[in-house]
Amino acid sequence: MSAAAAAAAVPGRRAKAAIHWFRKGLRLHDNPALLRACEAAAVYPVFVIDPWFVSEERVGVNRMRFLLETLEDLDAALRARSSKLSVLRGRPEEVLPRAAAHWGADLLTFEADFEPYALQRDEAVRSLLAERGVRVESFVSHSLYDPRGVAAAGPGGKPPLSYGPFVKLLRGIGPPPRPARDPPAAMPSEGWKPAPAALTFTDNATTASGTGDGASSLPASGEPASAAHGDRLAEARIPSLADLGYAPPEHAPLFPGGEQEGLRRMAAKLSRGDWVRAFAKPKTSPTAVGEPDTTGLSPYLKFGCVSSRRFWHELAAVNAGGPHGSPPTSLEGQLLWREFYICHGFSFPNYDRMAGNPVCRQIAWQDDPELLRRWEEGTTGFPWIDACMRQLRAQGWLHHLGRHAVACFLTRGDLYQSWERGARVFDRLLVDSDWALNNGNWMWLSASAYFFQFFRVYSPVAFPKHTDPDGDYVRRWVPELANFPKAYIYEPWKASKQNQRKWGCEIGSDYPEPIVDHVAVSKLNMARHKAAYEAHKAPGPPRDVPVGDSPGAFQVGSAPRAPKRARGDGDEGDAAAPGGSGEERDGASAAKRAKPASP
Ligand SMILES: Cc1cc2nc3c(=O)[nH]c(=O)nc-3n(C[C@H](O)[C@H](O)[C@H](O)COP(=O)(O)OP(=O)(O)OC[C@H]3O[C@@H](n4cnc5c(N)ncnc54)[C@H](O)[C@@H]3O)c2cc1C
Repeated sequence: MSAAAAAAAVPGRRAKAAIHWFRKGLRLHDNPALLRACEAAAVYPVFVIDPWFVSEERVGVNRMRFLLETLEDLDAALRARSSKLSVLRGRPEEVLPRAAAHWGADLLTFEADFEPYALQRDEAVRSLLAERGVRVESFVSHSLYDPRGVAAAGPGGKPPLSYGPFVKLLRGIGPPPRPARDPPAAMPSEGWKPAPAALTFTDNATTASGTGDGASSLPASGEPASAAHGDRLAEARIPSLADLGYAPPEHAPLFPGGEQEGLRRMAAKLSRGDWVRAFAKPKTSPTAVGEPDTTGLSPYLKFGCVSSRRFWHELAAVNAGGPHGSPPTSLEGQLLWREFYICHGFSFPNYDRMAGNPVCRQIAWQDDPELLRRWEEGTTGFPWIDACMRQLRAQGWLHHLGRHAVACFLTRGDLYQSWERGARVFDRLLVDSDWALNNGNWMWLSASAYFFQFFRVYSPVAFPKHTDPDGDYVRRWVPELANFPKAYIYEPWKASKQNQRKWGCEIGSDYPEPIVDHVAVSKLNMARHKAAYEAHKAPGPPRDVPVGDSPGAFQVGSAPRAPKRARGDGDEGDAAAPGGSGEERDGASAAKRAKPASP
C-alpha cells in the first residue's frame, strides 16, 4: 500500500468519497452503513448486479421483479435527497475496485451479511480494496441482534438449539438496538461524477461512454436527476427484467417491491392493534385467497426494504396498548423465529445441507427426480398440495402453513425426498427466499432438526378443511377441479367416473391420480424415520435402513405408488397440533408427549 493509500485508510478520518454498497438493506431508514458513508464529502450509492444470481435457475422471476422494483424505489428516494442509485454490473470483486478508482473513493460501507456466499465475497472485496487503500466498514442491521454477539452469549459460544432457551438468551441481552436516524435531506455530493459507463446499464453504450467519466453536478433536492445531468447522463439506468434475460412474469405481483411499499404495508398491519395483539400464527389461515392472513412482510424483511428493528420497536409500542400474545406464536414470536434461524445459519457450518451439518439428523432420503418434478409442478393429484405449489410458482409466496404442508409432503410425510431438494426449489421460487430461514425451516419440517415428532404428519386431505371447508383456495389454483362440490374437492378421485365427467374433469386424464397412497406411505415413512434415528445416533454417513415388514421396500427411487383408487383419508387430525390442525399422529403415546414450539 502506498503512503497516500495508507493515510486514506485511517479510521475516523473524514473520507473524501464513500461508496455505499446496497445488497440487502435496500432502504434509507435505519441504515447505519449508509449513514456512515454520508459523513464523507461525497457519497456514491451503488447496487451491483452480480452474474452469480442472475439466472432463472437461481432466482425466479417473481423475486427478480421484486428486486428491480425495489431498486427503482430506492433510486427515487435517493433522487429526492439529491443523489441517485448507480446500478453496476459484474462481479463485485471486479466492479467495486474499478468504481472506487474512478470515483477516488477512500471508504466503502455496507450492511454485514453472514450467509456463506456473502462472507466469502465480502472478504475478497475487503482485501482487494484494502490493497488500494480503501477502508471497508460494515454494520449489522439485517437482524435484530448481531449474530456474533448472540452466539458469544450462548452456551459454548453457540446459540441455544431450541427456541425457548434462545428467546430467554435474547431477553437477557435486552431489547434490540433502536433504529438509526434517517440520512440527511441532501446527501453529500462534493465533486460528484456519474458512474463509469462501462459498468452500468445504458440504452446507448457509445453515447454514455462518451460522457460517463465527466464531472457533473447532482440535482437539487427533489429535482429529477435527468433535468440536472442532461439526457445523456440519465441513460445509465436500472435494468429491466428483459435486460437480465427474464421473460415477463405471468402474474401480477402479490407484493410490489420497495421501501415505500414495505413501510406502507407495515403501517397498515400495525394500525390494526387488536389484530396485532391477538395474532397467533397457528390460527391464521393458509387458504386465504388474495391478501394474506399474516403480515405479508417477508419479502420486505428479506431484502431489507423494512428494517426488522423498526418493525420490532413499532410492534412493541402496539403491544404496550393492551394484553397480547407471546412467543412462539405471537407476531413478536415470528420475528424471533427469524432471529433464531439467522443466528443458527451463522453459527453452524453447512446449514444448507445434511452432510457436515451438526444440527441435522442423517437420513437416507430417496432420490426420485420424477416425484420431485411432480411436486414442484403441482401435479401430485392431491389438490391441496398442488394448489399450494401452484400458488408458489405463480406468486412466489405461500402462507407458512402451506409451506408446512408441502414440505412435510415432499419429505417425511409422503414422498421421502431430501429436504435439500425442496429447499432449492423454494429458494428459486420464493419472493422472500432467505438462506437461513429457508434451510432452517426445511430441516424443521423434515424432522431433520429442531422438531423430532416425525409421527405427526400433515394430512393432505384433512388439513385444509379446517380453514377452507368449501375448497375455494383449491378452485382458485387448480381450475381443473372448479366444478367439483366441496365433498370431493380434496379427494376428487373418490367421485364416480360419471360425476367426474359431469364436473368436467376425469381423474387420471384431466387431473392426476394421487401420486401415493398417503395413509400407507406416511406410516411406512414414520417407521423409516424411526429406524434412521436409531441407526444414526452415532455420527457417520446415512445408510438405507430396511423398514418393518418390508425390508428394502424403500430403495432409492422406489416410493410406493398409489393404488388405482387410493384410499380416502378422512382423519380430521389433531386440532391442537403445532402449526395448525390436520396433523395425524401414529401411536397413542404420541398424544402424551410435550408439544414443541412451532414456527
Ligand atoms: C419450509 C419453509 C420454508 C420457509 N422459507 C422461508 C424463506 O425463505 N424466507 C422467509 O422469510 N420465510 C420462510 N419461511 C417462514 C415463513 O413461512 C415465512 O416467513 C412467512 O410465511 C412469511 O409470511 P409473513 O411475512 O406474512 O409472516 P408473518 O407471520 O407475518 O411473520 C412476520 C415475519 O416473521 C418472520 N417469520 C415468520 N415465520 C417465520 C419462521 N417460521 N421462520 C423464520 N422467520 C419467520 C418473517 O420474516 C415474517 O415476514 C419458511 C417456512 C417454511 C415452513
